[in-house]
Amino acid sequence: DNHSSDLVVISPGSSFKSGRYVVLEKLGHGSSSTVWLVWDSIQHQYVALKLLLHKSVESRKWAQEKEEIQILKHIVKEDALNCENVVKMYDHFEHEQHQCMVFEHLGDNLRTLLTQNSSSQDYPTAAAGLPLQIVKCLAREILSGLDFLHHQLSVVHNDLKPENILLMIPSARNSKLPLDDDACLLPAKSSYSRGQKSLSISSSSATTIACCNDPKSVQAAFGCKIADLGSACYVKSLPSKRIVQTRPYRCPEILLGAALSPAADIWSFGCMVFELATGCILFSSTGARRTCHHKDLHHLACMWEILGPIPRKVTSTGKYAQHYFKSDGKLRHFEKASLNQVGTGHLEELLQNQHGLPGKDAHELAQFLCPLLDFVPMKRPSTSQCLVHPWLSL
Ligand code: ATP
Ligand code: MG
Ligand code: MG
Repeated sequence: DNHSSDLVVISPGSSFKSGRYVVLEKLGHGSSSTVWLVWDSIQHQYVALKLLLHKSVESRKWAQEKEEIQILKHIVKEDALNCENVVKMYDHFEHEQHQCMVFEHLGDNLRTLLTQNSSSQDYPTAAAGLPLQIVKCLAREILSGLDFLHHQLSVVHNDLKPENILLMIPSARNSKLPLDDDACLLPAKSSYSRGQKSLSISSSSATTIACCNDPKSVQAAFGCKIADLGSACYVKSLPSKRIVQTRPYRCPEILLGAALSPAADIWSFGCMVFELATGCILFSSTGARRTCHHKDLHHLACMWEILGPIPRKVTSTGKYAQHYFKSDGKLRHFEKASLNQVGTGHLEELLQNQHGLPGKDAHELAQFLCPLLDFVPMKRPSTSQCLVHPWLSL
């Protein structure tokens, strides 16, 4: 693909840092980078090389890249203590005005897992969520990584979404990758079989299969890590101008230009858990017209419809609040719509009626999600409070 970071022509066999890193294949890309599987000929291991946009393409982002590296270094420094749920950076350097970062090699991202699931043979077109046992396991892993970022590092991730959560490769979970060439795990692929109700993650030399009816086997089979610290920042320097988070996972305080806090991640996390369980984006702005203003309005209307009225305290705080709300707290352009009649929100109904979750499951999941999706950031639970929620116990 003609991605802008391909300004440096990369193909299998290309090498970086005086031949140390040899490119094998492309692992993925994001809005600001391409990521390659490379062989580290000094450490004798497979690693992932993230090559960011050329400095000239988006010089605005250059400063943010420096912060990404600073935070990634901080993670490695603190990590020795306890955290295995945030991606580790091994090295970084500049190559012809591209910022390059070298990471541990991880497996598929959760978007890939969801896509495979929905296009399974049994149900070729239907969007489908993952079994709740798997969703709970993923949620626990993500929360423990987020807990580390928020509490140990005072860092807000600012871009939680399925694309940025990566599965770990089977035996890499508890041991270092083997140095012996033949035994290396390459590449890791995940697949989920709805018919069999099992999830398998395999590499050339190992396959882990988790049976979804058995929570313990799911827990033992795999973990996942938070990646992409590209929008992350320290709590003390939270941005007031830059728009962070990817649209569907963006919290109301960002839309309204109000103060940011770690609670912004909790909102995105809630949106992501809904999506893992249903296969559908919770706040999708596909019906919205093109301009950012219309998308924001539509986004706020979706929130209102699903979660209930937005409290006056929220509609009157934030630099842009007046753009979207009238002084009586009603959403502009939506005054006459059915919105105003909606009472307390209907997340539970949505889960049950539209996404087919059994009543008890829908109720329990809604109980877990509603506090995460509180319009008032300060009322959202912290990561440690989420971790002890009964929905997450085995
Ligand atoms: P975004 O558009 O979300 O800001 P980005 O340009 O910052 O993305 P990343 O999210 O860091 O880039 O990486 C892009 C993709 O590359 C990921 O979604 C993932 O699929 C893959 N990838 C990233 N890091 C690794 C890794 N360490 N191991 C394996 N694959 C990876
Ligand atoms: Mg990304
Ligand atoms: Mg990013």
